[in-house]
Formats: sequence, structure tokens, C-alpha cells
Amino acid sequence: MLKKILIANRGEIAVRIIRACAELGVRSVAIYTEPDRYALHVKRADEAYSIGEDPLAGYLDLRRLVNLAVETGCDAIHPGYGFLSENAELAKVCSERGIKFIGPAGEVIDKMGDKTAARASMVAAGVPVTPGTDSNLKGIDHAVEVAEQIGYPVMLKATSGGGGRGIRRCDSEKELRHQYPRVISEATKAFGSAEVFMEKCIVDPKHIEVQVLADDHGNVIHLFERDCSIQRRNQKLVEIAPSPQLSTEQRNYIGDLAVRAAKAVNYANAGTVEFLFANNEFYFMEMNTRVQVEHTITEEITGVDIVREQIRIAAGLPLSYRQEEIKHLGYALQFRINAEDPKNDFLPSFGRITRYYAPGGPGVRTDTAIYTGYTIPPYFDSMCLKLVVWALNWEDALQRGARALDDMRVQGVKTTAHYYQQILEHPQFRQAEFNTSFVASHPELLNYSEKRRPREVAVAVAAAIAAYAGI
Ligand code: ADP
Ligand code: ADP
Ligand code: MG
Repeated sequence: MLKKILIANRGEIAVRIIRACAELGVRSVAIYTEPDRYALHVKRADEAYSIGEDPLAGYLDLRRLVNLAVETGCDAIHPGYGFLSENAELAKVCSERGIKFIGPAGEVIDKMGDKTAARASMVAAGVPVTPGTDSNLKGIDHAVEVAEQIGYPVMLKATSGGGGRGIRRCDSEKELRHQYPRVISEATKAFGSAEVFMEKCIVDPKHIEVQVLADDHGNVIHLFERDCSIQRRNQKLVEIAPSPQLSTEQRNYIGDLAVRAAKAVNYANAGTVEFLFANNEFYFMEMNTRVQVEHTITEEITGVDIVREQIRIAAGLPLSYRQEEIKHLGYALQFRINAEDPKNDFLPSFGRITRYYAPGGPGVRTDTAIYTGYTIPPYFDSMCLKLVVWALNWEDALQRGARALDDMRVQGVKTTAHYYQQILEHPQFRQAEFNTSFVASHPELLNYSEKRRPREVAVAVAAAIAAYAGI
């Protein structure tokens, strides 16, 4: 087993990894920049080291982090998600310095981080991909030519993109000419690469992704799927496992497809294969070579601790489970509680948390790094808490979600919590009949009163259930 892990991240995911370390008897080392001096991950880790004044630079300074890992006697680095998690260079520098990188090999990160290269590998492996270009676009004229072949609407996508950025839908040549330079500039700023490619726009798809685990001994398994269709501007807000709409046959098909995708690139460690699902067809979209924000819901339905498996895999151990031992039970939902004002175009709302009460009771889990008195700094992602609920069936999971959102208090900053209550009450959501357009096509859900009292919410939810059950 590994002895000591440097966690190259912050916030809730750093805390999540520290928890896994504690349960495995592995020492944890936190890093922090000045605005994070009082952050929870710093308090909870066994050791913590400052990596500079600048809010962000230290978290991205891979050579400095590897040096620190060596100096502090760590045998591994866990990158979490975001920051350096999909940086192949970090994986390579780690292996040169004798530090285990908790993720796949650098070459695999490189291949899957380039969306056109990833598409090519999948085509070779017989995995269906979204129709589109096999290489990057050479300029606007090339883009127009390709769009005419594929047929509008098309998606312009940054080849190195992530986090829902650098993606634009174009319905006509005029729109394509308008968006093309914008996507290039966004891609250059956000990902340091001006490469873009094109896919057919799948209209009103569901986003279905499969969690996979692979070890260094050739074992690859999947942990079923998640439905992440509830998105705003291509960014996930609410995630569900398993998908309430897939049949067992479709579930097994997509699971096998994800395993095939992982095997095709010699994948090791935890990863997620993302698909679009429309008209009963699945299309490979991309593979994320790291732990995902929504790994929690898969943990709830399968009982598998994904971060623990990541650490075991990096230690060279075989997977703890065979495919036939993986079962799923009930439904789990994750609400990304962002410090944002949904009524003001989801504008980030940073500042001091004057009061935080965690929701509790059966089937409720919170993954967060906030506490009463903590000040959310403006330099990082606005997600401040993940509220995860689990119940044996879909209706109970919805009800539990509504109750837990109502239990929770995050005061001092605006959050997306009330907005999620509106989503939960919507009949289309309750019947699981939603796709990636749900949020954009229901602006009326933003017209709610934040002053509603708990009983009012409970009555509204009961009414929605009665309507659904036809009572
Ligand atoms: P990222 O790397 O930013 O996560 P993805 O390629 O996974 O980018 O796409 C993010 C989201 O954008 C998807 O979940 C989906 O909602 C939308 N999207 C991406 N490609 C397409 C497409 N070809 N057709 C329709 N929607 C798409
Ligand atoms: P208000 O915002 O008007 O104070 P709240 O419903 O937020 O109303 O809280 C009322 C009081 O109930 C709070 O001052 C706090 O002491 C208590 N309280 C509220 N929510 C919780 C909770 N989830 N857990 C424990 N106590 C709570
Ligand atoms: Mg994605």
C-alpha cells in the first residue's frame, strides 16, 4: 500500500481524498495558496504546506508540487479533478521522479485529452462516435465545407476542451461564421490551444456516462451509468444514478461499450466514458481520465469507494471486485450547490458563510469544504457543496432530495439550492423525461420565492407526486 499521498487540489475533492486516505491508513499532505490558509482541506490533512501567495499559480505549478512530494516523503500524488488532473506532463514527471501518479499513464491522458484523437481511437475500437470530423478544422472555409457535409445544426468544439467551455451550437452558416472566431479565442484562453473540430449536433440528447475502473493487471470493470442531462450551458447541475430511463439491456450494452473503450486505450485507474443518447442510439463523446465530481452517486448505488479503488490501483493492487460482483441498488441524486445567484444569471456569489447547517437523516451525504465562518474566495470554481441523496426507488429519492434541500442552510452567499427544489417539483423531471435542454427550456423555474417555508415546499412536492401517480 502507499504510505503518504500529496493531494494536488483543494476544496471538497481534497477533503474527499483525505477521507479515503484516513480510512486506508495512508498519510495525507495538503497544499494551499494564501487565500486557502483557513480552508478545510488544510485543517483535515495530516500535513499542509504553503505553495505561495498567488491564489492559483501554486496549484498549477507541477514541478514545484512533484518536488514537494519528494521532499515530504510522499510516494504518490492524487490530482483530484480540474487543475492538473488531466495534465499528461504531471503524470510523466511523476514517473520520472519515482512518484506514483494516481491516474492513467501520461500517454493515455494525452490521447483522451485530445478529443479528435480520442474519437479516432474509439472508431478503431468499434465504439460508435458522434458523427463529425476526424481531425481539427483548418479554418473557417474548411468549417463551412464540413458543416455542409454533416448538415446543420453542428457543434463547434475545442479539441482540448473541458468543463463545458469552448462548445457552441451553430444552426446556419451565418452562425458558424460568427461563432468560429469566438470558439477559437475561448479555446486559446481557457485551454492554451486554438484547435477546434466539429460534430453533428445531436438534438435534445440525454448525457449518459459510465464509470469505469481498471487496474494494471488487465482487469477492467464498469460501475453502471449516470444521467447528467440536467445542465446549464453544457455544465452539469444535477446528476442521477442509474438513469431512470434505461432498460437493463441498454444498461448492460452501454457498460460493455465503456469497458471496450477503456481496454482499447490500455486504460488504468478510474475514468468516465461519456455518451450522448438520442433516438435509442448511444454516441461516444469523450473520456475523462480522472475522478469526476459526480463519482459520489455511483458510490451510493454500488457501495464501491471509488477514491479508495483509485489509491489501491496506483499501489499496484488488483481491483477489489469482479464485474459480476458489482450490483446497483436504488437511486442517487447529486445536487451541485454552487455559490451563485440563479436569479441573476447564475452570477458567482462569494463571501463569508455566516451560517451552515448540514442536512442529515437517512440517505443523505454532503461532500463539502465549507463551514460556518468560512469565506469563499473568488478565485476558484463556485461549487461549494455536493448534496447527495439515496433511496430505494426513484420517487423516494426525489422526495428525499426535496427534504434534504429544505433541511440545509447555507447563508451569507446565494446558492442554487432553491432552484433545485423547483426542478425536483417539475413533472417532466419527476417522470425522468428530460434531456440536456431541460434547464434552458424551463426559465419559469427561476421565478420562485426564496422565502417559502418548509411546509409549503412539502405540500407542493406532495401535490406533484399525487399528480404523477394519478391520485
Ligand atoms: P466537456 O469536455 O466540456 O465536458 P463534452 O464534449 O463532454 O465537453 O460536452 C459537454 C456537453 O455539451 C454535453 O454533455 C452535451 O450536453 C453538450 N454536447 C457536446 N457535444 C454535443 C453534440 N455533438 N450534440 C449535442 N450536444 C453536445
Ligand atoms: P431564518 O433564516 O428565518 O432564521 P431558518 O429556517 O433558516 O430561518 O432557521 C431558523 C432557526 O432554526 C435557525 O436560527 C437555526 O437555529 C435553526 N435551524 C435552521 N435550519 C436548521 C438545520 N438544518 N439544522 C439545525 N438547525 C436549524
Ligand atoms: Mg464532458
